Amino acid sequence: MTFEALGLHTSIIRALSDAGYTKPTGVQEQAVPAAIGGRDLLVSSQTGSGKTAAFMLPALHKFATAADVMDTSAAGKTPNQERQAARARGDRPRFQAAKPKMLVLTPTRELALQVTTATDKYSAYTRRIKAVSILGGMPYPKQMQLLSRNPEILVATPGRLIDHMESGKIDFSELEILVLDEADRMLDMGFIDDIEKIVDATPSTRQTMLFSATLDGVVGNMARRITKDPMIIQI
Ligand code: AMP
Repeated sequence: MTFEALGLHTSIIRALSDAGYTKPTGVQEQAVPAAIGGRDLLVSSQTGSGKTAAFMLPALHKFATAADVMDTSAAGKTPNQERQAARARGDRPRFQAAKPKMLVLTPTRELALQVTTATDKYSAYTRRIKAVSILGGMPYPKQMQLLSRNPEILVATPGRLIDHMESGKIDFSELEILVLDEADRMLDMGFIDDIEKIVDATPSTRQTMLFSATLDGVVGNMARRITKDPMIIQI
């Protein structure tokens, strides 16, 4: 099996080749085609299995493909081009809530940063994709500055994200993809109420992918509540 055979956009294939990845891991082989096809996923896999790429590659593929379509149609300016044009006209800067297309929730700052770094690597040749991390402990002005760039992808720990959501800095009405990474750890850390609040703020039309060491018990119940007809992958 090759990455080309998984049907990924050429910009991503090029980035994977730069990264020295020669073939998909087991979880990628199963998850990528299903996620490209729009399925929700429940994946039981460990760190080190290549799970980050398993959810990020199909998401980037979707965004890259949509950008190609926009280029060939007369769709006009993207929201970010409109923001730039307004700035160039000298319109009074007014805070507009960030409207991410993808949200990745992680239990820790370290994991969020790893996911963001991996995303930057996989999207090196994919246009119009910015990923930022929103983390507890990061200075507030710095986070506001990151959000004002209206990133397509947000990677966040749940607590800090709730603060920004409740103060109107993030609007999830255009969210297309929600990922819960290491969901069992997030529940162990007591994030269940925050996660439910965040999930409730996202459109029910979203695609949901949940990764966890185990899919039993509390995490299994939550997983089934927030996904629709998920494909279950056990590695
Ligand atoms: P993860 O399970 O996402 O934390 O990934 C574990 C490590 O495997 C990371 O260092 C990735 O860069 C690397 N990795 C992920 N997918 C592949 C692949 N298909 N080929 C080689 N390395 C990979």
